[in-house]
Amino acid sequence: MRLKTIELSGFKSFAKKTELEFGASITAVVGPNGSGKSNIAESFRFVLGEQSMKSMRGKRGEDLIWNGSGSVPRAGRASVKLIFDNTDRALNLDFDEVTLERTVHRDGGNDYRLNGSIVRLRDIAELLAQANIGASGHHIISQGEADRVLTASAPERREMIEDALGLTAFLYKREEAERKIEKTAENMREVESARRELLPHLKFLQSQVKKIEEGEKLRDELSVKYAEYLKRESVYLKHAETMLQEDRDEPARQHAALNATIEHIRHELSRTHSKDAKAQELMQLEEEGRNARQRREHLSRDLGRIEGEIAAAARLSQTIEGSVPASQAQEFAERTLQELEEALNLDGQPLKAKLQALVVLATEFMRRIQKRVAPEVVSKEELQAKKSALEAQLAELTADETRVRSAVDALRQKIDSEKDASREAERELFQTMAKRSELEATLSAMQSRADLLAREREAFVRELAEAGAALGRAAAEYDSFVLDGTEADEDRSAQEERRRKLERMKIRLEESGAIGSDDILKEFKETTEREQFLMRELADLEASSQKLKELIEDLTRTLEVRFDDGVAKINTQFDSFFKLMFDGGSASLVTVKEKKLRRGAERSDLESPELRSDLTDEEDVEVQEGIDIQLSLPHKRVKGIHMLSGGERALISIALIFAMSQVNPPPFLILDETEAALDEANSRRYGDMIENLAKKSQLILITHNRETMSRAGVLYGITMGNDGISKLLSVKFEEALAVAK
Ligand code: ATP
Repeated sequence: MRLKTIELSGFKSFAKKTELEFGASITAVVGPNGSGKSNIAESFRFVLGEQSMKSMRGKRGEDLIWNGSGSVPRAGRASVKLIFDNTDRALNLDFDEVTLERTVHRDGGNDYRLNGSIVRLRDIAELLAQANIGASGHHIISQGEADRVLTASAPERREMIEDALGLTAFLYKREEAERKIEKTAENMREVESARRELLPHLKFLQSQVKKIEEGEKLRDELSVKYAEYLKRESVYLKHAETMLQEDRDEPARQHAALNATIEHIRHELSRTHSKDAKAQELMQLEEEGRNARQRREHLSRDLGRIEGEIAAAARLSQTIEGSVPASQAQEFAERTLQELEEALNLDGQPLKAKLQALVVLATEFMRRIQKRVAPEVVSKEELQAKKSALEAQLAELTADETRVRSAVDALRQKIDSEKDASREAERELFQTMAKRSELEATLSAMQSRADLLAREREAFVRELAEAGAALGRAAAEYDSFVLDGTEADEDRSAQEERRRKLERMKIRLEESGAIGSDDILKEFKETTEREQFLMRELADLEASSQKLKELIEDLTRTLEVRFDDGVAKINTQFDSFFKLMFDGGSASLVTVKEKKLRRGAERSDLESPELRSDLTDEEDVEVQEGIDIQLSLPHKRVKGIHMLSGGERALISIALIFAMSQVNPPPFLILDETEAALDEANSRRYGDMIENLAKKSQLILITHNRETMSRAGVLYGITMGNDGISKLLSVKFEEALAVAK
């Protein structure tokens, strides 16, 4: 890789576009003080991505832009373009020529271009690091900065050496790997936290899914149990209803028949109520009989009297004697009356007997009085006629009486027989009613059965609806359930037990809370997938983190080896340059470790040695590796670098810078009056050394030194006129000498 040109536009004092070509391995830039030579060195820093304003002698980006003069107005931006020959592909780009350009605008904004395309600063830094043009700027030694390598802290010095050894690219790689590892760790934390956030929900979903599965199982079980229950119930109901119908038919028919019988008997009984009329008739007949008897008795008495008269007349015709005392007549009358009253209540044979007795009594009485009373004198024929008439009347009356008596008898008999008949009917009525009551009890029992069955039928309909609610359409398919054939002899309590079981299962199913199960299952699937995705992600991140760790270890090992190796090589060169310049003595770099408190810890702690050695807290202490310089000057005992003279310091610095450049030659080296402090002898040695260095690196030397100028292949002169603008011109050595010291 070789520097071809650098072009400055509006950069500091280079108001106009100025191009420097680097045709030789040593280019010297000469010119009077303040003409703008150092601005060229700074333009290199600038275009290579320098971020420190201070190292470009500015405070803000704006300070780098041509600020205008009396005749030329200020510029809006400053840009520097560097062109490399990249035919050796030292820059990892597939171009023979690589153009690097940086522009700074007045607002402080910067843009970087690589072969005309905008890129990031980082891209440029990485590209250059590969070509050993690191950010520490070890290859650009600004004016008065030659001993920076001496005054720098040990860690800073280490950084410069790492850079000079071309390790920056590895460091970048390692830093990037570390950044990536940090990023990976952050991603892992994010993924882990996302997963942690997910887990309780996933757990919840898992338990829900388990519930749903259990619910499904329960539902299947319930479905089978329900089907069996409903089938059994429907069979039972159908059977029970048929049986009831059959059982009820006959009693109902009988009941209807009994009702008809009862109706009939009642009707019959109501017809026999004419017995009152018969009793009336009987009483009338009996009255008739009584009247007939009285008349007959009267007639009998008349007849008896007639017969007595006839007898008396007969006896009178003989002698009439005696008389009847009044007491006897009285007695007779009373007895007769008594007998008659008794006879009144008799009939039939007793009546006849009574009447006979009365005849005897009357006859006796007549006989007795005829002895005492003189009978009237009545003709016998007359009496006989009366007697015959009376006898005829009596016969007629007796016949009448007999007829009445027989009528009474007949009527009585009829009444009696009718009485018997209705008693029979009433008994039948009672019997029938009793039978009907019995039947009604049976029927009422059957009605109870029917009511119960109706309630059971209602319950069945309700259960069917409930089953539908719990199981959906499946509930309606109970009819296809195949029973085991035991249903006919099964006790009702078994069904009852089944029903209770069903209720318990339904409650369990409800409690299982398997609602909205489709959503839950979908969410569970998604969440599981998400969790698995996160796990894979975590594993991937873990794997890449592991790879990065390995890369870092590799890089660290490489860095250590190369660094140690490099330092050893530098030391050889350093010591020999040192010996050359000081005519003896020795110099070397040594690796040191510095404990340093991390940011935020008290600075005073660091200053106390006891405290520093006591610092064991890993958190607060950072161990920094650094490089110290050990020297021994010939004939002098030097305690510290600060005790050296300016020239000595310059010599040591140059020895070290050149040693570094020798070990790992940078593509180019810019030295801004590095040799300013050297005396003539050392200037010559310096000249020899740069000639040596120029074999491997392009050198751009800003100088006032004639010795240095004499070694240059190309000489540029910089001048500045009244307009404050730096101008470039190629000069010959002799011309250059005019500005040389
Ligand atoms: P010496 O030999 O004394 O080291 P030099 O040749 O290195 O001098 P520089 O330090 O490069 O000179 O140039 C400084 C000059 O550049 C000054 O005159 C300064 O005014 C000018 N300059 C710096 N920045 C700007 C700017 N932004 N605009 C215009 N001129 C600037």
